[in-house]
Amino acid sequence: MTQRTFHATLQLTLESPLLVGGHTSPASYVDATSAKRADYVIPASALRGALREACTRLENAATDGATAETAVGPLTCELFGAPGADRPKLTEGTGDDIAIHSGDAGGTSGKLRVGDAVARDTMHAAVRHGVGVDRWTGAARPEVHFQREVAGGPGDVLSAPLECRASEPAIDLLKRAIALVTGVGNSQSRGLGAVCASIEATTAPIPKRSVELRSNRTELAVRIVAREPLLLGGLPTPTNVRESLPFVSGAVLRGAIANAALRSGIAETYEDFRAALVDPQTCILFSDALPATESERNLPLPAPRSRLACKHAGDRDHRNVNGVARDTLVSGWLAGLLLREGGTVAPFVCPVCSRTLTSAKGWVGGVDPDRRVVTRLGRDVATGAASPGLLYSTVQIEPTATFVGTVARLGDAARRLLARIDAPVRVGGLRNRGLGTVEVTFEESSHLGRGAVQSRRAKLAKAAKPLLDVARVLGVAEVADADRLLAVVARTDVALPPEAAPERVGRALFGEVPFRVLAVAQAAGVRSGWCERTPGPRALRPVVSAGSAWLFAAEGEAPSDEYLARLEVEGVGDDRELGLGRLAIAPHALMEGWE
Ligand SMILES: [Zn+2]
Repeated sequence: MTQRTFHATLQLTLESPLLVGGHTSPASYVDATSAKRADYVIPASALRGALREACTRLENAATDGATAETAVGPLTCELFGAPGADRPKLTEGTGDDIAIHSGDAGGTSGKLRVGDAVARDTMHAAVRHGVGVDRWTGAARPEVHFQREVAGGPGDVLSAPLECRASEPAIDLLKRAIALVTGVGNSQSRGLGAVCASIEATTAPIPKRSVELRSNRTELAVRIVAREPLLLGGLPTPTNVRESLPFVSGAVLRGAIANAALRSGIAETYEDFRAALVDPQTCILFSDALPATESERNLPLPAPRSRLACKHAGDRDHRNVNGVARDTLVSGWLAGLLLREGGTVAPFVCPVCSRTLTSAKGWVGGVDPDRRVVTRLGRDVATGAASPGLLYSTVQIEPTATFVGTVARLGDAARRLLARIDAPVRVGGLRNRGLGTVEVTFEESSHLGRGAVQSRRAKLAKAAKPLLDVARVLGVAEVADADRLLAVVARTDVALPPEAAPERVGRALFGEVPFRVLAVAQAAGVRSGWCERTPGPRALRPVVSAGSAWLFAAEGEAPSDEYLARLEVEGVGDDRELGLGRLAIAPHALMEGWE
């Protein structure tokens, strides 16, 4: 059936105050109405629920009772997704308690996208008091008082964007069902949340290009800025809490670009689409993009496994003090040589608070994104009543969060394709419930390329030289020339078997030149992900975790800066097209504290 794209604005005029819970409030006894930056909003999931219920009723009425009361008609399914999980194969056959997630299989996520409804003018909040009632006797229970925050009143208007690409009958059903939406949110039976809904057709709203290309180079940094909350997978857990990962994987970004291209009317069979996004030999190599600070033009790095830091390194009195964090990859290797000769090495302590330094976590040149816990209530589609077992929470990343990664093989085909994308780019989960929209910018970075690698290697050699000189005087040096040292940190997870990783990373760095592995600070992990093409979860695979670090020495001529600069963005190991295997050559973080 032919599909068409439909853009509209849903207008909700309040007839009574709203009670829309969800975002956790500081005092948990108050059901805070969703407040985001002082604007009152109705979360997209609540609107979507109200629209779905209206469409179900209308479609079932139109089929003259032929459909069972609880069943959902085909047009409603087209718009809102089939009942059951939209990730049907995820938990198949893995136990009784997660059967609820696997549903009847065949579930889909639906074609209608609803955004949050935002108040047009300032709305005011008020607190309503209530008394719990004993269900058996009907008497008030004096010890069960509750308070609820409600927002707005008759006449206040909120509006939300609707977007879908669906068949004409489905769009028609949606348009006619809007009038049936008479309530949104909680306590509708107590007079709250009464609304009058209407729809205004709008032309496709494209205020700003979602993909921007600022350079002609084939190897660039890619900056992703969240314009809506994000829920980045990982795979959902069998519990009812889903927490966002703190980074945008390369696979997710590639999928989001492909999705935006399709929604921009570019066919999957189009030659540039295949070359830039599908063919593993030529496709753009997106790395995982890590959380960055909004302002700094840094390429963030996971804290190297060899890094020690004071627990309070982030405190005000610790800032910019040399020695509150120090890396031990190079200095520790040399200290090890001295220890073998009977020397002693004191434990590192914080110069500010005298605590012993411990393994560092987090990011260097980046910061964990802000998060918010959002709790939602699943509703029975047929009755509209809350389903008590279906309370679920998501831990979402807040808008304005910024992620930076690298990109390689940005050839002519990729450039032509990116220039044609005009649909919004969306990443992660709950994309049709107001989440996921990002802006993607490809830009040059002073941290990438031959010159950057050259300067970092020179700094490492300069810092290591005095230590090597001491070692030589004591007769323990194994490496004569500091220029032949090469230290590397995994910027992303690396898909190599952990036991073979030092040898395989070294081989990628040095090629045919013999080398020695001097020090390893490595951790093992696993990676998976959701594949939308199959669809199904990707097999769990062992990886060497991001932040693992290695120190090598070349036994012949060390590789060229140009070669290493390309290796940084093209990566090592398997699954490089999914964002894995990226390296940072001699990053400054490895010289921290002993330089
Ligand atoms: Zn300290």
